[in-house]
Amino acid sequence: MNFDIAIVGAGPSGLCFAQALAESGLRIVILERQPEAALANPGFDGREIALTHHSARLMRELGLWERIVPDAISPLRDARVLNGLSLYAMNIDHSDSKQGELGYLISNCLIRKAAYDAVKSSPAITLMTEARIDAVRTDDEGAHITLANGETISAQLLVAADSRFSETRRAMGISATMHDFGKVMMVCVMEHEVPHRHVAWEWFDYGQTLALLPMNGMRSSVVVTMPARQIGDLMEMDEDDFSRAMEKRFQHRLGAMQLASTRHGYPLVTVYPDRFTAKRFALIGDAAVGMHPVTAHGFNFGLRGADVLASEIMAAHARGGDIAAAGLLARYERRHRFATRPLFLATHAIAKLYSDDSPPARLLRAASLRIGNRIAPFKRAVAQMLTEAN
Ligand SMILES: Cc1cc2nc3c(=O)[nH]c(=O)nc-3n(C[C@H](O)[C@H](O)[C@H](O)COP(=O)(O)OP(=O)(O)OC[C@H]3O[C@@H](n4cnc5c(N)ncnc54)[C@H](O)[C@@H]3O)c2cc1C
Repeated sequence: MNFDIAIVGAGPSGLCFAQALAESGLRIVILERQPEAALANPGFDGREIALTHHSARLMRELGLWERIVPDAISPLRDARVLNGLSLYAMNIDHSDSKQGELGYLISNCLIRKAAYDAVKSSPAITLMTEARIDAVRTDDEGAHITLANGETISAQLLVAADSRFSETRRAMGISATMHDFGKVMMVCVMEHEVPHRHVAWEWFDYGQTLALLPMNGMRSSVVVTMPARQIGDLMEMDEDDFSRAMEKRFQHRLGAMQLASTRHGYPLVTVYPDRFTAKRFALIGDAAVGMHPVTAHGFNFGLRGADVLASEIMAAHARGGDIAAAGLLARYERRHRFATRPLFLATHAIAKLYSDDSPPARLLRAASLRIGNRIAPFKRAVAQMLTEAN
């Protein structure tokens, strides 16, 4: 079978990239190993995705935003960063970003469902599910994919969107720097007595990191990061014991709390490949930048990269050029690295510092929060980074 672009992975990034090209006149195939039912009705996976204004705009352009019921989109008005046992907080106010809110919160399963529905309504996109890839290679003529059932697929360009542990990236010989934080992030929805006023919390406590992402109503997405064994204990507790344990962990700052969803654990591994491109090949989504979730930017970067690559491809196609030209891929590489590398490194440094409980680190943690709080340009820069309001 012959296509213009073959995408491996129908996660949110692969689907959004395909959808960005739906009107380009190019023939696109997405190869996904999961069954179609898992894409058509994705189950709740605990992730509530904080989206910047830039991402909201891209999702509107892709026709995803209107597929999500307004009640399921929660505004993220302000953010507070807390440290250790102190009540002192660095406050990042929406007014620092000149926006009515810092961003929005939407369940990952709703984003995936909206992206799947959009792709299914686009005749230019073929979705092949339960696809088992045996081999991939690219040469001057194009990309060649062999499936386990013996079928072969060729395309002008191969794009990998197959997660931070991308097998396609490895098969193409691209190395990546991985960092395993040795911790697991547990996410779930909880109801609570004290209103959140649409303020997100990032609380770098000693021995644990807690986060609260405000959902509509008296509910929040609650995130706990700790070593795997402790997270395992939390996830095995019965619902009431778990709720009481969480009230204690949050030092009763939210009053009574009650578990309102299933609990999900994600090992904390970050990934940054040495290159995003090779001959007739590009990485997007988590396969390109596997962020630490603490700055809530993984999918925001996924959308941004998909938009940049799709724009470069459409411009080349419109002037009758090669949609996988080396120069085009080099421009994507440069633009996406420039947009993602600084925050990737900064997030890494923040996560390392604020999970270090040694006495010097405790001093530095408290001091940097107070200094950051007093420097208005710094706070405006953080607000700008969180909102991507441009
Ligand atoms: C707890 C948590 C909270 C997060 N919060 C935020 C947030 O607030 N804001 C934000 O922007 N981001 C957030 N993220 C990150 C965000 O969830 C990811 O960036 C996003 O889901 C990545 O999408 P993706 O499509 O690149 O990869 P994935 O979602 O990993 O999808 C990859 C797809 O590829 C398929 N696949 C894999 N290998 C193969 C193969 N060999 N052949 C065929 N198919 C294959 C998989 O089945 C899957 O469908 C969070 C992540 C976590 C874990």
